[in-house]
Amino acid sequence: MRGQCLCGRVEFEIAGVMPQLYQCHCSLCRKQSGSASNTATLVGSEHLRWISGLELITSWVKDNGFRSDFCSQCGSPVPNPLTDAAYHWIPAGLLDNEIQQAIAAHLFVGSKAAWEVIAAPGKQFETMPGLPEFIEMLHANARACLAE
Ligand SMILES: [Zn+2]
Ligand SMILES: [Zn+2]
Repeated sequence: MRGQCLCGRVEFEIAGVMPQLYQCHCSLCRKQSGSASNTATLVGSEHLRWISGLELITSWVKDNGFRSDFCSQCGSPVPNPLTDAAYHWIPAGLLDNEIQQAIAAHLFVGSKAAWEVIAAPGKQFETMPGLPEFIEMLHANARACLAE
């Protein structure tokens, strides 16, 4: 599973496993994505391989710890490591191969934008479950993913 930013200079690959997706509707993800939510997944860091453009990645961390990594050339969000687990956050819109995975969860539904109507399937959480439980949920129907 290959992914790249808008300008194509930051490229990466996910090999071995492709977990299900989730959408986070919190106020920070809305600002970071410029939209109703972030659609993403979490993959074990050992399954992520950078292909190019690491030197273009700018990292910005809010005082509460929320981190946004993005391509300094085109502004696309790019994968970034979680602080509490050996996993990387992967923005789903960057993935180029056809994605079979479903949206398994909606996080922070309690603080979604008033104008958003959540139509996608998936379990809805007022905030979010504990991280280990959440990672397990995303991997429950994970598909084997060959490097391509
Ligand atoms: Zn870029
Ligand atoms: Zn969020």
